[in-house]
Amino acid sequence: MRILKTIAALRSWREEQRAQHKSVGLVPTMGALHAGHLSLVQAAVQGCSSIVVSIFVNPTQFGPGEDFERYPRTFEADNALLQAEAGRSYFKQIAIFAPSVAEIYPRGANTFVEVPEFDARLDGGSRPGHFRGVATVVAKLLIACGADRAYFGQKDAGQCALIRRMATDLLIPTEIVVCPIVREADGLAMSSRNRYLSAAERKQALVLGRALRGAQEMFGAGEHDAKKLREAAVKVFASEPAVRVDFVEIVEWSTLKPVARAESGTLCAVAAYVGKTRLIDNIIF
Ligand code: AMP
Repeated sequence: MRILKTIAALRSWREEQRAQHKSVGLVPTMGALHAGHLSLVQAAVQGCSSIVVSIFVNPTQFGPGEDFERYPRTFEADNALLQAEAGRSYFKQIAIFAPSVAEIYPRGANTFVEVPEFDARLDGGSRPGHFRGVATVVAKLLIACGADRAYFGQKDAGQCALIRRMATDLLIPTEIVVCPIVREADGLAMSSRNRYLSAAERKQALVLGRALRGAQEMFGAGEHDAKKLREAAVKVFASEPAVRVDFVEIVEWSTLKPVARAESGTLCAVAAYVGKTRLIDNIIF
């Protein structure tokens, strides 16, 4: 499996694929790979001939006091998981793009991508600068890679909406593909941050899924009033007082604007602190 460490190496790999008339799929990640990430790789294998998985812990999307320094960096294990995936994906090529910070933000780098409409919405509201960092790094990856398609998880639904807007606005022709959330057997959405949880916190974390299912059940029973659906989810959170709610929002998925009435396709997103760990989850009604 090819490991590309520089933009120059990524570009020349991309050119090789173009010369062979191969379609390219990009899967951006911050590493510490789990089955959620691998589901994106599998979708990319289905949809493209050659796949590049980027592994880059992007400093600009972390705020002061967040977990940038201690974010798990597990390159050897990630490499082994992708090798195994490549072994199963006959006739497809999987490469890893693992750049340094200096490669993505060259000396003096001072250009950022902002989508102001999203700044105060969902994670943008509770993590100032987060969406700016995400939009910037994903724009750089999309431009540098020139992929035909790029794969993202619905797990980060706010990020998906932001990236679609950004790619459309910047005339980036890569198709943005959003893949379903992969969960543990007990319903917890897989996340690289789950490894921060103690055994007790791991149990408490299930309240995120319970809150979402509570709202979903009410919606299924015919309740469309977003305020009532939101209150139902908040009430479920109250059953786990150790968990501190960051937000419970019912929004239009494409714009992340709050809605008064939930419809099929409306996004219900939650974020909560379990101990010091901030977890997110969502459902689409
Ligand atoms: P991250 O490494 O956390 O930045 O995530 C990289 C990509 O994997 C993002 O598009 C995430 O939405 C996606 N992802 C993370 N967790 C999951 C999951 N449980 N199911 C599906 N996709 C996921």
